[in-house]
Amino acid sequence: MLAYIGLGSNLNNPKQQIKNALIALNTTQDVEVVGLSSLYQSKPIDGSDQPDYINAMCQVNTHLTALELLYACQDIEIKQHRVREKKWGARTIDLDIILYGVQVIASKQLVVPHPQMMSRAFVLVPLAELESDLKVPVLGPIQDLIDKIDTSVLKKL
Ligand code: AMP
Repeated sequence: MLAYIGLGSNLNNPKQQIKNALIALNTTQDVEVVGLSSLYQSKPIDGSDQPDYINAMCQVNTHLTALELLYACQDIEIKQHRVREKKWGARTIDLDIILYGVQVIASKQLVVPHPQMMSRAFVLVPLAELESDLKVPVLGPIQDLIDKIDTSVLKKL
């Protein structure tokens, strides 16, 4: 199964955090990182006084189920000492499953396609960089989604 995982960090050397998470993902059994976008910098979405975020998107080939992949991502977050203080608070690393093949999942633990993806430039732009003609299940062509948002908030690094 081909899946997309969004990575984000705004604490403790964000670029290194993303690099470490990618290494951890790639060394997870039955997960192979097969694609990686550029890094993008943006301001926190709630406008609060936190450091800028660094985000990237990776493509993984996996034999894990969607839920197993979520647990693998959560393990990596815990190992990189993500401190979860408040919903939109600063974080050392955040891993979100954006897409899992063309599956549509709506369980208590996991919602795929990721429920906020259509409003987030830092998700859509790196995703389109990896697959410019992607058709997102339920939501439609990636370029149509990008046309509806402000991408000027992103700085490509
Ligand atoms: P966050 O604070 O963004 O890391 O959200 C983590 C919570 O979102 C966890 O409780 C997950 O079970 C839940 N969740 C639902 N859908 C997803 C998804 N597609 N990727 C990652 N976490 C998800």
